[in-house]
Amino acid sequence: MLIDGHGRKIDYLRISLTERCNFRCQYCMPEKPFSWVPKENLLSFKELFMFVKIAIDEGVTKIRLTGGEPLLREDITTFVKMISDYKQDIDLALTTNGYLLGDMAQSLKDAGLKRINISLDSLKAEVAAKIANRDVLDKVIYGIEKAIKVGLNVKLNMVPLKNINEDEIVDILEYAMSKNVKVRFIEYMENRHANESLRGMHGREIIGHILKKYDIKALGREGSSPSFNYKILSTGYEFGMIDPHKHDFCENCNRIRLTAEGDLIPCLYFDEAMSISKAIKAKDIKKVGEILGEVLKNKPKENRWSENDENLSTRAFYHTGG
Ligand code: SAM
Ligand code: SF4
Repeated sequence: MLIDGHGRKIDYLRISLTERCNFRCQYCMPEKPFSWVPKENLLSFKELFMFVKIAIDEGVTKIRLTGGEPLLREDITTFVKMISDYKQDIDLALTTNGYLLGDMAQSLKDAGLKRINISLDSLKAEVAAKIANRDVLDKVIYGIEKAIKVGLNVKLNMVPLKNINEDEIVDILEYAMSKNVKVRFIEYMENRHANESLRGMHGREIIGHILKKYDIKALGREGSSPSFNYKILSTGYEFGMIDPHKHDFCENCNRIRLTAEGDLIPCLYFDEAMSISKAIKAKDIKKVGEILGEVLKNKPKENRWSENDENLSTRAFYHTGG
């Protein structure tokens, strides 16, 4: 069993498969200048799988593949199948912008993927294009519909932004309700890579928009999930709010992160990571275990996220996996 320096049980591994992306969301990735980690520095699926096996053998029960855009990583279905074949009851999930999903949903499901989170920030083509800096909406909607059709457990993620998509909070909620899938609203998290002019919305402001139309009841957090759940009283529909401006989910945090080039990160907001790349390439499993132990020992008690300009996180979401 994996236990961190604060006594928390760690059973959730998030793997960022690539930092590359076919979108340039204003809150995540600058348009340019840009320098990608060279492909030769990335761990192969075989190498990533060496760590996955250690993690599963040590008690990890949930794995999420993310990025960047994970569906850009060639042959991702093979990696999904490797994990699923190793432990069939693993809670295997993926987070995607949905653009390439339409044609991949069935093969991902067949390979053993169980759950998928799809980002949907707008239902208006021009607003979606403004946020992603690409014309994306039709393909994203197609991806969402295909994922539902093939039987994946779908959730939607929206990042509400002041004066950009805040007027669509209820529209996205109702779209998710009509599709019978859960939506989670994510507070914009300030970081040095985002467009500086963006203004995010706090959870209470997002809820304020919903209250104009619906009466809701606060349900609370589900286990170690960062999402705080609410119920719409008239329909019973449940949605979530991810509000890292509060630190109250850190005490139950159960996750660690691995990047595509082998950096093991104890916390999304924490700027220190340790590389397992050399040990993995040398097939030194004992050393990988030692590094994992060190990273767990140093996992911070709570995230160091800050709204203040001078303390803004330098960690790129597209690199560590959001
Ligand atoms: N490319 C995939 C996607 O967009 O879903 C997966 C990676 S993305 C980094 C994962 C999630 O992080 C997305 O739901 C995205 O909206 C969210 N995200 C990225 N930057 C963010 C920020 N600055 N604040 C809040 N959420 C952010
Ligand atoms: Fe790409 Fe996802 Fe970041 Fe948007 S949020 S730029 S889709 S990694």
